[in-house]
Amino acid sequence: MVLPETNSTFLIFGQHLIATMKLASFNDYRIGVVEDRLVHDVTACVPAWLDGMPEQRMRWLIDNWQQARSHLQDLARSTQGLPLGSVKLLAPVPAPSHVFAAPANYQKHIGELGERAITKKGRSAREQGFFLKAPGSLVGAGEAISLPKGSKRRFDHESELAVVIGKPGRNIPRERAMEYVFGYSCLMDITMRIEPGTGEEERSMRKSFESFTPMGPYLVTADEVNAPGRLANRLSVNGEIRQDANTSDLIVGIEELIELVSSVLPLRTGDVIATGTPEGVGPLVVGDNVTIAIESVGEMTLPVIEAAVTAPRAY
Ligand code: MN
Repeated sequence: MVLPETNSTFLIFGQHLIATMKLASFNDYRIGVVEDRLVHDVTACVPAWLDGMPEQRMRWLIDNWQQARSHLQDLARSTQGLPLGSVKLLAPVPAPSHVFAAPANYQKHIGELGERAITKKGRSAREQGFFLKAPGSLVGAGEAISLPKGSKRRFDHESELAVVIGKPGRNIPRERAMEYVFGYSCLMDITMRIEPGTGEEERSMRKSFESFTPMGPYLVTADEVNAPGRLANRLSVNGEIRQDANTSDLIVGIEELIELVSSVLPLRTGDVIATGTPEGVGPLVVGDNVTIAIESVGEMTLPVIEAAVTAPRAY
């Protein structure tokens, strides 16, 4: 058998040469390498002192990727895989310092929300900058989107490519921005819409309910995604396509977004940048199943459920 030239991006499982590196967080923040719908538990590549803060394991791994990688590959080879369906997938970076998000970053999305839009007409992320979603709103592919109990408000799906930062940086010029990208994931920016005149809460709050930032199903390392600026980005609800676009339509591309965010504050390892949603944004209701699929990055479906407890304030 002739193997292609082996570089550090290739994993060898038995006789199979694997050209992908998909990292997952699962169960109680264990670290997995996903291949052929199997999860290989490689948590042992992360130091035991992180057992006291297991949600930081993935961040440690990203920070120490060059040193940890070969140990991780050895572990992935030597452990039996668990069927993907038998584990609970969490957000691949479960506790980043920041989740940045671009508003108004696909031309055709601008204007489609009518009176419910809060971005000024004609302006994009280039003029508006970014907003923040609370990291505590992240969930993974094995979880659910939970809407406030009894709510009559409109809750929308937004289908976005997530960029995960690989090392700290400040004032990063766009020419060097891709050096700071560790990998990519799918991200839904779930949003409670404003109701003009009656419900005009702050954007950060409306987008930060627990479970309003599904991310996953895993983190695909940057070297596996040849053209992040040319990826199909699709979202469907109950099998019906709602959003169907391509990251080539991004107004502010990944490099410029990294330049923009890092011009304001330092980026930290594991930070997430949600790159914005294309047109086709629409409402979700309890009982829906929402699927996001981004080319070369992954696909996941989450159910929409109702929160168990009524909030003391009506939403
Ligand atoms: Mn969004």
